[in-house]
Amino acid sequence: MIASEHSTPTHLETDVLVIGAGGAGMYAALEAARGGASVILADRSLIGRGGATVMAQMTVAAALGEQTPDHWEHHFADTLAAGRGLCDERLAALLCEDGPQRLREMDAWKVGWAREDGHIKQAQAPGHDRPRCAYVDFLSTGPAVSKTLRTQLNNASTIRRIGDLVIVDIAVRDGEACGATALHLPTGRAVTLAAKAVIIATGGLTGLYRRNSASSNMGGDGYALALRAGAELIDMEFVQFFPIGHLAPRLVGMDPIMWDPFRYKLGGKLLNSEMREFEEDYATRDSRSDGTYVLTRDLATYAITKEVEAGRGSPAGGAYLSFQHVPEAEIRRAFGPVVDRLAANGIDLAKRPVEVAPIAHYHMGGVRVDETLQSCVPGLYACGEAVGGANGANRLSGNAITEAFVFGARAGRNAARCAAQKKAMWSPEAARPALDLLRSAAKRDAPNPAAVVVKLQAVMADDVGPFRTDAKLRSAIAAIEQLKTDIGDTPISSEAAFDPVLVDWLDLRNMLQVAQSVAVPALARTESRGAHQRDDHLGLEESWCVNQIVDLSDGAISLHKVAPTTGKAAA
Ligand SMILES: Cc1cc2nc3c(=O)[nH]c(=O)nc-3n(C[C@H](O)[C@H](O)[C@H](O)COP(=O)(O)OP(=O)(O)OC[C@H]3O[C@@H](n4cnc5c(N)ncnc54)[C@H](O)[C@@H]3O)c2cc1C
Repeated sequence: MIASEHSTPTHLETDVLVIGAGGAGMYAALEAARGGASVILADRSLIGRGGATVMAQMTVAAALGEQTPDHWEHHFADTLAAGRGLCDERLAALLCEDGPQRLREMDAWKVGWAREDGHIKQAQAPGHDRPRCAYVDFLSTGPAVSKTLRTQLNNASTIRRIGDLVIVDIAVRDGEACGATALHLPTGRAVTLAAKAVIIATGGLTGLYRRNSASSNMGGDGYALALRAGAELIDMEFVQFFPIGHLAPRLVGMDPIMWDPFRYKLGGKLLNSEMREFEEDYATRDSRSDGTYVLTRDLATYAITKEVEAGRGSPAGGAYLSFQHVPEAEIRRAFGPVVDRLAANGIDLAKRPVEVAPIAHYHMGGVRVDETLQSCVPGLYACGEAVGGANGANRLSGNAITEAFVFGARAGRNAARCAAQKKAMWSPEAARPALDLLRSAAKRDAPNPAAVVVKLQAVMADDVGPFRTDAKLRSAIAAIEQLKTDIGDTPISSEAAFDPVLVDWLDLRNMLQVAQSVAVPALARTESRGAHQRDDHLGLEESWCVNQIVDLSDGAISLHKVAPTTGKAAA
């Protein structure tokens, strides 16, 4: 059944193919359409509802200067400081310089940024030197952003939106991207897509970890697609752990990272089992002090983990987050409707602390691109969290959504230009390897891919988590290799039209390749920097002020170092 579906693929053609419809992909599609291109915007989930963007509840950083005077260069300086010497300065400058324009455009599109006395309200987040983070009240930033972009898409007649479409591989001809091969989930039909330019906007990889803030489809597809197409990845070892993910008591229907805005607005205290504040004890690790004891994410993750290891953790294995010093009326004034949703979960912040612990949250690494957001494969672009380099070794709060808007718009504009200047490169031969892979899918005696995903998540959490050692990383690399052998090179199928077994196998193929792309450079980096912390190599090593580049050589991961890119991109 499945074999015949794949033997006659549906074929579609467009100027620009955007893979992934989160904030970056939607912005890319809009901007490519504004540039005169026909666009297909494809997502494995529902358009604008599938990835991290719609889940984000908090803030978007840009030097709007609405709360206090600001300039993008201040934001740039803070971004570079957080990146610990590894930022691609061209990309970081784009993020900070274009950010205000994108936030004002979203404002004009009626996203509903919170206001105070007529101006856009901006909150201060750790690592930013002044209030710079806009938001939509009450913890509605991501849903509001997604809805606004979906509304704009509704008005764009040259954008064709296709949901439930998993891109399986990028099609490459003579070294250039010319489209993609996909699987339509409900029908099991293979789809080939011819495009003059392709944009990867597939978000991050935190689904590789046991405890994460991700939606279920964030296993790093885009990184694997890029690698197999011949592109390079950068800074893959830098996975950001969100320090105060919700741990206990049970919380249903709410974002596990919702406690950050509570901290910004109300000043929650992190306490150990002795009910003592401990952030100050860790402010100087990594040779850096912010001069404030609200630690950046990497340092707070370190602090909580070490308190737990020292036997000073909360009962569920994290830290307490307490708002008991804040008057009840103030909590309600700040978070009105959210307080009721917490009450429905049996949580009363004025009376009792909650328990929090680090969870995998964001990926600083990704596809290596130039200042036009193009990878080393001509015609293949990337944007949003799929891109590596802008944030170096650690990302500031609020920079990720700005990055999605800015890089999305830039990639869309440049891809439209690229498409206008070149002839279609499509050849059915370019889709053949992926179609052959799909056609070979069959029922066979093999481990259940969904169970293998759970094993992989445990390996990544235990051995490639926030604190790494040589022994743990070697063990992880061996385990990943074994899991690759276990699942084999031929897809497993349930041979039904809607085939979750095949989808799990395809996901796992990507996840294992991406897990290797994280573990291998993590093993090589014998220092502690930003989100990469080695218990056996404490502190920054000057000689490691380099980016590591991952690519595929004869199907195997290969690694080399480059000096960080400095200098500002041409406007
Ligand atoms: C819970 C949570 C809260 C956050 N809060 C904030 C915040 O307050 N501020 C901030 O700056 N950042 C925040 N972040 C990070 C930020 O939301 C993300 O970095 C950003 O939204 C990423 O946008 P994106 O468009 O690159 O990817 P996403 O929004 O993740 O979209 C990627 C899309 O690609 C699709 N896709 C993936 N693979 C394929 C494939 N093979 N074929 C087709 N489609 C595919 C997915 O279905 C998804 O829709 C948060 C993240 C999470 C998870």
